[in-house]
Amino acid sequence: MPIYEYYCRACNTKFERLQPMNAANEAIVCPAGHEGAVRALSLIARPITGSGAERGNIGTCG
Ligand SMILES: [Zn+2]
Repeated sequence: MPIYEYYCRACNTKFERLQPMNAANEAIVCPAGHEGAVRALSLIARPITGSGAERGNIGTCG
């Protein structure tokens, strides 16, 4: 089962929680008992494609 990171705005706390596929729409309750915790966004930085800054990686043909 995947572990997702959630963030509770009520107590400003991050916590991890197992989320099975069939419970994706369940309300998340933080360890302190607050409902409405939101899933924390991934901190993995992804390069934005189409910015025109992808130079220097051109292979030679032939
Ligand atoms: Zn909370």
